[in-house]
Amino acid sequence: MLAGMDDASDLDEWFARLPKPSPSEGLAELLAAREAAAAAPELSTIPMPEFPYPLSHPLGGTMRFSCALGCGWYHDENPIREEREPLVLPADPEKWRQALAVRAEVRGAAFRARVEGAIADHFAQAHPGR
Ligand SMILES: [Zn+2]
Repeated sequence: MLAGMDDASDLDEWFARLPKPSPSEGLAELLAAREAAAAAPELSTIPMPEFPYPLSHPLGGTMRFSCALGCGWYHDENPIREEREPLVLPADPEKWRQALAVRAEVRGAAFRARVEGAIADHFAQAHPGR
């Protein structure tokens, strides 16, 4: 079908313009950052993150979760730098949305588990009983 082919070549062009080392990597980084940002505010025990570095910094994309009691402790997460598993998309672009949603859900759950675990450990050690 002609319209489908046109869409595919438009998409190739769009990928080609992405600035990162490889198009899929650039897309993956963008999605990872968006997934992580979308996942964090849902949580009651996880504070809103700070972003201590600009994106151009080697540690850009780092999300910092500070202790809610202000003791100076924090836990850093960097979904852009730490997760390098390749983004595998189905050949059919119609299925991308679902594939990305599943991936986001899996990664979001792992992300929450890590941050919640770190905060729980910190409270157990530094603020027992709080
Ligand atoms: Zn603390």
